[in-house]
Parts: sequence; C-alpha cells; structure tokens
Amino acid sequence: MLHKLSNNLFVFYSPNLGSNVYVLVGKRIALIDTSLKANAEDLLDALASIGIERKDVDLVLHTHAHADHIGCTSLFERAEKLMHEADAKKLELCDARYTCSNLFSQEEYPKIDSLLKGNETIDIKPFLLQVIHTPGHTAGSVCFYDEKNKLLFSGDTLFENACGRTDLPGGNEQQMVESLHELQYLKFDVLLPGHGLVFKGDQEENLQAVLKTLKEKYY
Ligand SMILES: [Zn+2]
Ligand SMILES: [Zn+2]
Repeated sequence: MLHKLSNNLFVFYSPNLGSNVYVLVGKRIALIDTSLKANAEDLLDALASIGIERKDVDLVLHTHAHADHIGCTSLFERAEKLMHEADAKKLELCDARYTCSNLFSQEEYPKIDSLLKGNETIDIKPFLLQVIHTPGHTAGSVCFYDEKNKLLFSGDTLFENACGRTDLPGGNEQQMVESLHELQYLKFDVLLPGHGLVFKGDQEENLQAVLKTLKEKYY
C-alpha cells in the first residue's frame, strides 16, 4: 500500500525486510530504492493506485547496492538508473557478498545507467535533490537532500534512533561517524529512511543521540 506524505510524495512500506520505496511525482517520476523482488506485485499495485505504470517511471535513484534496495529496479525498463560508482561497480560484478544477496535470498543485479560521485543535483521539480556521499553502511551509500523542501532521504545511513550497520562488506564505522557528522550541517525537517517509518521529530536531537550511541560503543 502506498502512503501519501504530500501531494507529490508517497512511500511504499515493505511488508518484510525490503526497503521503503519513495515515489516522487514531479516534472519527472522518480523512485528512491525499489525493495525486494518478492514485493514486485505489491509495489506495482501500489503505483497503479496513483495511476503510475512501469513505463511512466523516468528515474530510479538508489541509496546503495544492497539486495533489499534494488530488487524491483529492472522492472522499470525505461527509467534511467542511478547509483554511486563505488556500489555500482560491485553490482556490475554481480558481487553476491557485497550486495548481501544470500542474506536476502535474491540474485538480482540490475544495470545502472549513470554513476554518482556525490554533490550532483537531480531536478525533479518541485524536488531538487542533492546527492550526499555518506559511506559507512556501504562504500557507495548516498543520501538525497532536498534543501528547499527540507527532506533527507537517508537510505540505511540514518534512521530514527539508529544508524545502519557497519559490519557488512564495504561497511566502515569510522566513515559512518564522519558521514553522520556531515549530515549535521544539513537543515531538514523530515527524515525519510530506507527502513521504518518516516520521522518528523527533532532531527538535530535524533542525530546527536545516534552519534552519542556510536561514540559510546566504539570510543
Ligand atoms: Zn536496507
Ligand atoms: Zn543496506
């Protein structure tokens, strides 16, 4: 089922371990992450409920290459697919270990069209997304930041009360700390994470608490 966050923004909450899928309906239609392939039917039904068919999707943006975020990507044949180069490289090599394919029982390696490095802007009027490279959960994790609408799509880098795990291949806890510090400079009112509910509470307090827990754990 699709939840409406605003007139142009929807979220598909996966019924299992699959990622959230955000649907941005603007000048172009964009998805952020695509959950597990096991959710394909549910996701397509959810999109159809707001009149979006597979061929209508122009862009698929990925926060990282884990299997739970890329499962339905190849369904959107016409869409331009974007991912940070560090993770896209592993996907191209069909690296099952890096993409956690075994963990999610899914062998799916969609083709990526455009490589991100960080600092790009993606115009999906009324959204203007800035790509923020936030390694830590994986080497090529990114967040998508909309300064004007004060939104942060954080993938598995930041959740309410937690950050993503750093013990998987390509993960690095020191980089995670540095990435979370970077996020402190951004002003956002709404956190749209890769899993769990969209969080509209105090963002500064949340980030501080997450950083404090990390530091207590590791330092
Ligand atoms: Zn995930
Ligand atoms: Zn992940």
